[in-house]
Amino acid sequence: MKTEIISIGTELLLGEIVDTNSAYLASQLPLLGLDLHFISTVGDNQQRLINILQQAWQRSDIIFTTGGLGPTQDDITREAIAEFLDEEISTDPQLVKEFERLFKRFKMEMPKSNLKQAGIIPSAQIIANPRGTAPGWWIERDNHTIITMPGPPNEMQLMWTKVIMPRLQQKLGRAIIVSKTLKVFGLSEAKVDELVSSFLASSNPTVGTYAKPDGIHLRITAKSCTTNDAQTLITEKEKDIRAILGDNIWGTDADSLEATVGTLLTSKGLTLASMESSTGGLLANCITNIPGSSKYFKGGIIAYTGKTNTSYGIDEQLISKHGLVSTEVTEAMASAVRHHLHADIGIALTAITGPAEIEGKPIGTICIGIDNGQHTSSFTRNYPGNRPQVKQRAVISALFELRRVLL
Ligand code: AMP
Ligand code: MG
Repeated sequence: MKTEIISIGTELLLGEIVDTNSAYLASQLPLLGLDLHFISTVGDNQQRLINILQQAWQRSDIIFTTGGLGPTQDDITREAIAEFLDEEISTDPQLVKEFERLFKRFKMEMPKSNLKQAGIIPSAQIIANPRGTAPGWWIERDNHTIITMPGPPNEMQLMWTKVIMPRLQQKLGRAIIVSKTLKVFGLSEAKVDELVSSFLASSNPTVGTYAKPDGIHLRITAKSCTTNDAQTLITEKEKDIRAILGDNIWGTDADSLEATVGTLLTSKGLTLASMESSTGGLLANCITNIPGSSKYFKGGIIAYTGKTNTSYGIDEQLISKHGLVSTEVTEAMASAVRHHLHADIGIALTAITGPAEIEGKPIGTICIGIDNGQHTSSFTRNYPGNRPQVKQRAVISALFELRRVLL
């Protein structure tokens, strides 16, 4: 089975957005044992899309498209496919009713343009979109399959996991495939690779490593006739990997460090306050991404200069002796914010984010201080990267160390 992906949207060709949909689908197709041969990008232009469809039809069995299913004039995927297949678009009355219900729920009048999204051709079946008004089409004709999905990544991915992937599994008569991601921090990708190298050659389950902004992800993928059997294979492999990577695994699948830390703080009945400099509030922002974080997060201070630090009681001499980005100062900051905001735990974060060295310390130097009321600890790390990357790594690092302290 040869497959290809067509991503549709002029904004992709202008470099305004990155084609993450193709990357996502490309990572999913191997799970189905499907070979991906081409990825094309085309603007919102009906004739050029038809040209690509003609090419794809000749060389591929399954064609996936994303984008161009919106209600506006420039969204032409349906029209192009209908013209290419020489089929008439009609309006699906069931879908119109659903749209009307949806708009009524949001107390909005349905724009006429939305009717376009209720269009259907004879060889297509509607793929429901639980997150939006752009349904997909599943087309079977002349031994070819065309599957159209909406552009917004969250809508596309939900449609993929809920409907398309299971249906393709069934269509292809393939084994059930289950995967689980273990999230690792504090080790380089090369180190993780080395530690789990004996598992990387295994064919069922397979184990793959991926470097991500929040650390290294290890994906275990198992194939079997039943979900239960696939799950068992994963559980066994996970146990082996956990025995090697231990505490460096901080979560799985959709877990985030900020949520993990939040759960730990809640279960222990502890409160937290943060003080940060170069990360400019990113740590506090991240912590407050979790709904209900006000139950444990008292607040944060952004102290962007030495003077601001001293105004919160950090010893001026300590700063001049060790520098702002030092374990000594971050420990003092952690204690200061803990005291000022009456929290059980204070966490502080400073970093050299670049573009130049500061205090003779290299770009990417990160210092984390944590005061939990009983004792104060500090950590120095170094992560190369540009300014936003160092900031993000610093925050992930701080949350990771906080998790360790909480455990
Ligand atoms: P569309 O369905 O073409 O109207 O796309 C709606 C929105 O989805 C776009 O404005 C983008 O933000 C997003 N989008 C569309 N195609 C892609 C893609 N290939 N990768 C990532 N995001 C996309
Ligand atoms: Mg578009």
